[in-house]
Amino acid sequence: MTDTSAKSATPFMAQYLQIKAQHPDALLFFRMGDFYELFFEDAIHAADVLDITLTHRGQHQGEKIPMAGVPHHSAEPYLARLIRAGHRVAVCEQTETPAEAKKRGYKAIVNREVVRIVTPGTLTEDTLLDARAENLLAAVLHDPASGEIALAFADISTGRFSVVSDRLARLSSLIASFQPKEIVYLQGADGESDILAQLKPMSAPLTPHVTRQASPQGGRDSLKGAFHLSSVEGLGQFTSLEFGVMGLLLSYIELTQAGIPPELDFPRRESLSGNLIVDETTRHALEIERTQAGSRKGSLLDAIDCTRTASGARLLNEQLSRPLTDVARINMRLDAIQTLMEFDHQRDDIRSALSAMPDLDRARARLRLNRASPRDLQAIARGIGVSQTILPELDDPGLQGAALVSDIHAAIDQAISNGLGPLQGHLSSMLVDEPPLLANDGGMIRSGASEELDRLRTLRDDSKKIIAAMEQRYQADTGISQLKIKFNNMLGYYVEIPARFVDDLEKGEQASLFHRRQGLANATRYTSDELVEIAREIEGATSESKLLELRLFEALIHAVLEHSEGLRDLTHAISALDVACAGAHWAINNEACRPELFADKRLEVEAGRHPVVEAALRKEGHGFVSNHVSLGDESGKDPRLQVITGPNMAGKSTFLRQTALLVILAQSGWFVPARRMSLGIVDRVFSRVGASDDLARGKSTFMVEMLETASILNQASDRALVILDEVGRGTSTYDGLAIAWSCVEYLHDVIRCRGLFATHYHELTQLAARLPFAGNLSLKAREWRGDLIFLHEIQEGPADKSYGVQVARLAGLPKAAVLRAKRVLDELEADKSDHTVTDDMPLFSFSEDEAGAGPAPEKADKPTSAPAVDLLSEIEPDELSPKEALDLIYQLKGLV
Ligand code: ADP
Repeated sequence: MTDTSAKSATPFMAQYLQIKAQHPDALLFFRMGDFYELFFEDAIHAADVLDITLTHRGQHQGEKIPMAGVPHHSAEPYLARLIRAGHRVAVCEQTETPAEAKKRGYKAIVNREVVRIVTPGTLTEDTLLDARAENLLAAVLHDPASGEIALAFADISTGRFSVVSDRLARLSSLIASFQPKEIVYLQGADGESDILAQLKPMSAPLTPHVTRQASPQGGRDSLKGAFHLSSVEGLGQFTSLEFGVMGLLLSYIELTQAGIPPELDFPRRESLSGNLIVDETTRHALEIERTQAGSRKGSLLDAIDCTRTASGARLLNEQLSRPLTDVARINMRLDAIQTLMEFDHQRDDIRSALSAMPDLDRARARLRLNRASPRDLQAIARGIGVSQTILPELDDPGLQGAALVSDIHAAIDQAISNGLGPLQGHLSSMLVDEPPLLANDGGMIRSGASEELDRLRTLRDDSKKIIAAMEQRYQADTGISQLKIKFNNMLGYYVEIPARFVDDLEKGEQASLFHRRQGLANATRYTSDELVEIAREIEGATSESKLLELRLFEALIHAVLEHSEGLRDLTHAISALDVACAGAHWAINNEACRPELFADKRLEVEAGRHPVVEAALRKEGHGFVSNHVSLGDESGKDPRLQVITGPNMAGKSTFLRQTALLVILAQSGWFVPARRMSLGIVDRVFSRVGASDDLARGKSTFMVEMLETASILNQASDRALVILDEVGRGTSTYDGLAIAWSCVEYLHDVIRCRGLFATHYHELTQLAARLPFAGNLSLKAREWRGDLIFLHEIQEGPADKSYGVQVARLAGLPKAAVLRAKRVLDELEADKSDHTVTDDMPLFSFSEDEAGAGPAPEKADKPTSAPAVDLLSEIEPDELSPKEALDLIYQLKGLV
């Protein structure tokens, strides 16, 4: 590592090192003219991530200083890549001009300050943000004495600010349901290790932060400061821990924004008591918001998202991440979807109007953070305009029959009539139709909007005409038609003539009018008193008009921020409308049905489909086979636990996930891809699907599997839905079977929840047959001319065999190996035909009386035939190559 101590550094390097020392954990973007430069290790990291050239600049302590730079006007994409690669970036700007620095002293270097630290959780630029996902920053605080935790979430790109309290044990599932991009915790706090243990497995980066503000009083003070309040009473009731966590969050945001207090909406207290909990493992396994590989494409969210606005997409993401448990609230969403399905005309009109809806929340946040572009103001005006066109579409009393739709209508109406209507008119009358990106460029205010601005602009433009006239006059008076009046930053306006006319001018009658300024090889430049005077007027008018435009721009921002809350309410209503219309649109296009919700524990799906697999198959021109499932009916007597068997590739995992996804969709208030679905509310969905490898974290596959299974068995209630796929596979056959067996019994006898258990252990089907509330399902497969055909159809009862050998053949194992495998299998089956594991069952019994102690059904003896004959019966002679035929003859010979 380079020694970067400031000793013997040049003044410039000393300044760099002093600033860098304050931000050791961030890459320092050090502004130098038109570039952000990085030095030392920072330069090496950045050059690596950004694929930019690593150069050197000067020396420090005898060694060359590594340097890399990015142009400041196109820095955003570079920032985005660094943030995505897990870095934090401190942006250090010049806070004075070189001219100002010179005034302080001949050798003074320009002052520089860090104006912002860019971290994954504190982004505001559109180019750095995912438009369709929230960008939440989370802070967590723990009270070890009571076991309580409090969480605060903020999205500074939209202003959202929420607080939640819960128990430490639920921390990870709670955080998972918000999917923050960065999690801040109080470094050195009591119980820090407990928090870290739960947070470590999260995918979001963890940031330690030290502040005095993470206390009840510190939090109150931070809130007062952030919202300019004299007392926090009006914000609502919060616990001491909640005040503390808000203080922690606000303090961290302030740090990253270099002291500028965050501009957020008032904190909203959220409760997860009304939510279906889905932990991180389950989300990952079910690919709800992202696929296991981490992309949005291919997830459940991606399959159902047909919202038209960015804020609508974010709301849908939120609803799917935190489904509900309250039947009335779910039905309210479903009512809105159902009603909008009946009003095709209005729905289509609304959806096409919404396509033109800008991202109001993010534009508003940039206005508040003082990072707004004139285009953000225009976006606000356009957004209000779109809302105004939507409003009459909602007038139909039939549509308003749905409470959510009438609430949305009322909210839009109220927001517009409470000032947004006039604001829209004001903005439109002030802004040009296509404003520039940067306010400093000027040109955003419409002509006619301000008399004073018009006057200055006329002066500026007239002066230009005067210059043109002057040029013509000088040409005529001097007789030099190549005389030009030009402009550059050094000289301002000047007269230029080609070198060969210099004598003509300087010896001519007009010579006294012109004063020589600059001689070039092929031209000479002059000025005249008249030109200086006109130039002053032009420059005055130009800079005054720019200044005036900036003042008008600020006044417009101020006018918009006066209506900040109205705009927030409007966006909420529009987002809810977008989601409801998208729900209706999706339901129609996907032949989805409205789930019926109940307070009991039934779960019946008729002709259900997996929305993601179905969409993928459809693209390839294949159909999806719909399936029924019942995990308990109205009477409560039906099996609530189903053991599912069937060959690999038959569709077990798809069926399992499909059932869980349908429950999540239904409780998110979305229609489900099925002919009918009745659902008694589920409080948690647990899923352990496939053996995920976690070797990187030093745990064996089996250990991970057991940890996850343990957490399910420890946490599930009788209201849970548990989906287990091949538990026990990670260890030897008997261990695995024993564990799988005990899990099924535990779920059945102790937890008594609804569940699906896919397994390769056929012995488990015998257990399921014995337990009163368990059943067997299997996926149909048929052998046809030696091939295995998967029907993907679920049927009552266990699978007759596992067809592993046939699947191996489908996968392209050499024929001889397949045939050999088949023989080994036959021998193994013959060996154990008089001894099944179930003889000693049950391994565990949690309630003998309920389990019904009937004997396990005998496994029918399988007649064994001569192995050579078996092998022969498997052969399809036409499919064998000569080499395979010869191999086979050798093999047959070996059998007799
Ligand atoms: P298993 O878990 O039994 O090994 P999967 O659920 O992984 O099988 O399914 C294997 C493949 O079969 C899937 O990738 C999918 O393409 C197809 N499939 C599964 N279920 C269905 C279905 N109901 N209809 C049509 N194709 C299906």
